[in-house]
Amino acid sequence: MDKLSMIFLGAPGAGKGTQATKICEKYNLPHISTGDILRANIKAGTPLGLQAKAIIDKGQLVSDEIVIGLIKDRLQEDDCKNGYLLDGFPRTIEQAKALDSFEKIKMAINIAVNEDEVVDRIAGRRMCVCGESYHISTYSSDTCAKCGQKLYQREDDKPQTVKSRLEVYNKQTAPLIEYYSNKGILYTVDGSQDIKDVYNSIVKVIDDNN
Ligand code: AMP
Repeated sequence: MDKLSMIFLGAPGAGKGTQATKICEKYNLPHISTGDILRANIKAGTPLGLQAKAIIDKGQLVSDEIVIGLIKDRLQEDDCKNGYLLDGFPRTIEQAKALDSFEKIKMAINIAVNEDEVVDRIAGRRMCVCGESYHISTYSSDTCAKCGQKLYQREDDKPQTVKSRLEVYNKQTAPLIEYYSNKGILYTVDGSQDIKDVYNSIVKVIDDNN
């Protein structure tokens, strides 16, 4: 079994974060989300966070140079030696090419969901600073079931920003589907199923191809 180096592709709200948490638990891999890293920097008030905040709040992408640097450093850490799961990176062809220059990716798993569904999911999404996320249709408490902290709505999950995030996705990130398909490592799962069924579909893809 070689290194389980994996990417999750999918529109905002497709369920990448939710599934990544579960998959990383099962395969004992680090869950590396550029969005989480950037939000942690915003919270800590680092120079990078200050720079990223305005861009994220508009639903635009942070520069390739910044996120490529973040990922390159992160993938050198010890916990990545047997594999990792990238969630939210790469988001542009430029980022994918940079990643290919320093890593060999084994699988790119595309979580496919139609756009109406995604809009609804994002509108009802509530987050915890610990990384958990919930949907108001299935979770009515305003505190996190895992750690008890208060849930909040991401600034960029508000309707005025979601539209530009989806435009950015269609224009800059969706071309990655063809990019990885051409490399013969793209696997698509139906992300409109129940969370458990999406999870089972992903596990099957991984076990069949590892
Ligand atoms: P996410 O949590 O993956 O939805 O990311 C939230 C926001 O962080 C995105 O809308 C972007 O502004 C920024 N971001 C996250 N990952 C990347 C990336 N790979 N490239 C550029 N911007 C990113």
